[in-house]
Amino acid sequence: MRRTLFEQDHEDFRLLVRDFLAREVLPVYEDWRRAGLVPRDLFTALGKLGIISTAVPEEYGGGGRDDYRFNVVLQEECARAGVTLGGLRTHLDIVVPYFTGLANAEQRARWFPGLASGELYTAIAMSEPGTGSDLAGVTTRAVRDGDHYVLSGAKTFITGGHHADLVIVVARTATDPDDRRAGLSLLVVEKDMPGFTVGRRLEKLGLAVQDTVELSFDDVRVPVANLLGEEGAAFTLLGRNLAQERLAIAVGAVAQTRAAIDLTLTYVRDRTVFGRPVAHFQNTKFELAAMSTESEAAQALLDAAITALLAGELTPADAARTKLFCTETQGRVVDRCLQLHGGYGYILESPIARLYADARVTRIYGGTSEVLKTIISKSLGL
Ligand SMILES: Cc1cc2nc3c(=O)[nH]c(=O)nc-3n(C[C@H](O)[C@H](O)[C@H](O)COP(=O)(O)OP(=O)(O)OC[C@H]3O[C@@H](n4cnc5c(N)ncnc54)[C@H](O)[C@@H]3O)c2cc1C
Repeated sequence: MRRTLFEQDHEDFRLLVRDFLAREVLPVYEDWRRAGLVPRDLFTALGKLGIISTAVPEEYGGGGRDDYRFNVVLQEECARAGVTLGGLRTHLDIVVPYFTGLANAEQRARWFPGLASGELYTAIAMSEPGTGSDLAGVTTRAVRDGDHYVLSGAKTFITGGHHADLVIVVARTATDPDDRRAGLSLLVVEKDMPGFTVGRRLEKLGLAVQDTVELSFDDVRVPVANLLGEEGAAFTLLGRNLAQERLAIAVGAVAQTRAAIDLTLTYVRDRTVFGRPVAHFQNTKFELAAMSTESEAAQALLDAAITALLAGELTPADAARTKLFCTETQGRVVDRCLQLHGGYGYILESPIARLYADARVTRIYGGTSEVLKTIISKSLGL
């Protein structure tokens, strides 16, 4: 169905990204998959072309266009090309907005030029071995000592942590016995700070080129100047960005759903069974007809949610509805697409198998489907 979300600037940006992926990524993507990592200089290459700096103000070398549609285009083009760019989505859609929204003048001068050029790459560390969905359960502690905080604790599942130069760490700076959500703060930890260790890269079911690591903090002295936003206000600050974070996952889910359907359409035309293309069977036609309808419905919901986000009107419950529907649709559709590939669909060389493996996590991270349902049911007064 015709989409009305994008303007000419976004379509020009789409061609730039498509060209970059074709020239710089596709020829070497298998090497990255084998290494389980994108090379660090990917980000500076993207920075040179202005692909990752649209939201950074112009005075720091960015594009000065805080328009989420550019990020949408980037994800759509990656899905179309059958690649992911490591933790780039987390950096762009989740972490950079904390910097652009919260950094003070001194922090902007210190960090924004690097964010614009790709010399500074970021991650966010909320989850811990003992707590994920229940963010108020964070136990990483930061104790004030003069003009520093002394940070200790451990984080896990951190996307992009291997390459990150700056990590926003959610830490407890105070305890309020009456309010578990109070007393959390955002501290920016720099790569070379003594006591900060990047641990092992976790082996995952999918997302082969995306590094996901453990981090540990052993009395790391973080200057108070690296506090992002108000001390003790992290729970509220994290809540403000949650709508876009959830939407970012939905954008990837829908783009990959469409990619799975496109791959399957090609496969069922080419593959012959009992002397006929798989496309000949009524089951194949009905499955693809149903899947294309589901994917259009997901796209329409998503585009409405993006429009609401751009207008500053996307509610937490609607962001939750959108992520829930788009990721659950992705799970159902990609599974059926794989089925239509037969045994080849199970072989990791085939792109549909990778899409299947990559899809599983979208119902877990950024708020599990169950947690999203609790948010939606609250909005219904339940
Ligand atoms: C590949 C990957 C990348 C990630 N990247 C990051 C990152 O960059 N930074 C970061 O901080 N974290 C990251 N995470 C962590 C991710 O956000 C958490 O895994 C997620 O929030 C779920 O938390 P958990 O794993 O602790 O599950 P748990 O919270 O332990 O949940 C276990 C089960 O309990 C259910 N459950 C929890 N609460 C409720 C409830 N109220 N009602 C009903 N059921 C409930 C859940 O739905 C789930 O089924 C990543 C995770 C993965 C797998």
